[in-house]
Amino acid sequence: MTTHSYPDTKLLIDGHWRAGAGEDIDVINPATGERIGTLSHARSSDLDEALAAAEKGLAVWRKVNALERSRAMRKAAGLLRERIEYIAQVLTQEQGKPLKEARIEVLSVADVIDWFAEEARRTYGRVIPARADNISQLVIKEPVGVVAAFTPWNFPLNQATRKISAALAAGCSVILKGPEETPASCAALANAFQDAGLPPGVLNLVFGVPAEISNYLIPHPTVRKISFTGSTAVGKQLAALAGAHMKRVTMELGGHAPSLIFEDADIDAAVTRLAASKYRNAGQVCIAPTRFIVHETVFDRFVDGLVAVSEELKVGNGLDQGVTMGAMANPRRVQAMEELTADAIAQGATLRTGGKRIGDRGNFFAPTVLTDVPLTARAMNEEPFGPMALVNRYATHEDMLAEANRLPYGLAAYAFTASAKIISDLSRDIESGMLSVNHHGLGLPEMPFGGVQDSGYGSEGGLEAMEAYLNTKVVTQMH
Ligand code: NAD
Repeated sequence: MTTHSYPDTKLLIDGHWRAGAGEDIDVINPATGERIGTLSHARSSDLDEALAAAEKGLAVWRKVNALERSRAMRKAAGLLRERIEYIAQVLTQEQGKPLKEARIEVLSVADVIDWFAEEARRTYGRVIPARADNISQLVIKEPVGVVAAFTPWNFPLNQATRKISAALAAGCSVILKGPEETPASCAALANAFQDAGLPPGVLNLVFGVPAEISNYLIPHPTVRKISFTGSTAVGKQLAALAGAHMKRVTMELGGHAPSLIFEDADIDAAVTRLAASKYRNAGQVCIAPTRFIVHETVFDRFVDGLVAVSEELKVGNGLDQGVTMGAMANPRRVQAMEELTADAIAQGATLRTGGKRIGDRGNFFAPTVLTDVPLTARAMNEEPFGPMALVNRYATHEDMLAEANRLPYGLAAYAFTASAKIISDLSRDIESGMLSVNHHGLGLPEMPFGGVQDSGYGSEGGLEAMEAYLNTKVVTQMH
């Protein structure tokens, strides 16, 4: 395998990569704690240039016909596939996930771009029958305008791609504030779009102090649409600011997915599939199964299986062969895992495996299973965002449903059962944006992706994701 060195990252403004007016900051490899590169920071002068570039880019891009837009996007997808080894290695070095997962992320974002490239050609309006012969009534779809997008470090490619692809397909231009901890894979993504022939200013990439950038961009009159992925706490602040300036908003926020294991479930399948989802990306996934709510008659079998799979994982540097779970992306996640574990145990939970950091170098935390966790434990109420499974038992359907819907989050939910009646009841009763039964089927580009309540609003997949970047205009004409 060719080893690619890690690049320094600059800002992309108006088609040029260049340093920002802010200071450079270090990029750290979470598996080693070593500095691997630097990242240029933007100041308001850089943001002004990005805003002017995006305005200019919008004027050009919205007039490029849909077929040409689609072709440029597909070319970018092809370039990402060609560059998979380089991008995957960069991603693993800055984010920690195993190389295999990084490669999957590159391939899946190429698929996302292809899907939205096709949708670019289908932003249909409609003709509404009029009440008189000499009237025609049209509904036209138009790009919403300049988009300010904010994306996090857990899936640096995927989170950015979902926003960029839908926006570009709709004819919008974008200023993306990428994740400062994992900037270079995001830069490689932007580079693929540049090399695919995107006109200057259509896609701009900046980094900096997150609050400084959001406080500057969201109220700015040039920006017409905000899209944010991250924590609920930050999402609420940004949504409030956007609301004060009447900006359209998509919010993809935290989750605390209930995972329901019924008496009649295929327990081996439930263990295997839920463990794979739980420990993917070291649990730093908004749709990760988190509260396992298991019928008392199958509780012991399920827990024994989950503990066995957890202990089989090989935790280590994502670049090393055979590693199945990598480092957590930053030291504060390891600290959060330690605090949540200690609190759960102090409140009476049983630690079945894990519960501690591994080694003294890098951000490694052992796959952790806690059982009989009191509902007052912090982990039962805050999104752990790490390799932690919280497993509790239930006796009645009512108890199960009350626990499943207890939190204000409502992103993903999982269920394992063979009963058509239970599936149909859950489809009606679960308060979440997504329900996946007997498998992990979430996150495909053609499927809506989003939550309700504190998990946010809007969708990052399917037709709904395109709608988020389109305005509806009515034209009625007398002939
Ligand atoms: P955080 O709340 O500080 O930041 C979350 C993300 O928001 C980061 O990408 C950060 O750069 C960005 N951000 C923070 N303040 C911002 C601001 N004022 N304006 C614009 N962007 C801002 O938390 P963190 O320590 O980075 O992550 C911890 C928590 O965030 C996790 O526990 C999880 O709940 C949530 N998170 C969710 C997702 C997701 O996919 N929904 C991804 C990453 C983090």
